[in-house]
Amino acid sequence: MVVFCFLVDQKRQVRRSKPAAGICSRCGGGASVADMKTATRFCYVPFYWKSWRAIICTFCGAILRSYR
Ligand SMILES: [Zn+2]
Repeated sequence: MVVFCFLVDQKRQVRRSKPAAGICSRCGGGASVADMKTATRFCYVPFYWKSWRAIICTFCGAILRSYR
């Protein structure tokens, strides 16, 4: 019997960040420029990585702006 797996998910990771000007529109927390890394996984096996930069909230983690 063959079991097919169609589970695809993405794992987001902040590699490093530094404070930036601006505040979060959601919670009012401080913003920071972060180097992000997204791993796309298929059946829990990563097969694609993407590095990108974004401005995120240091308090709630919301993405305020992204540069792709
Ligand atoms: Zn926030």
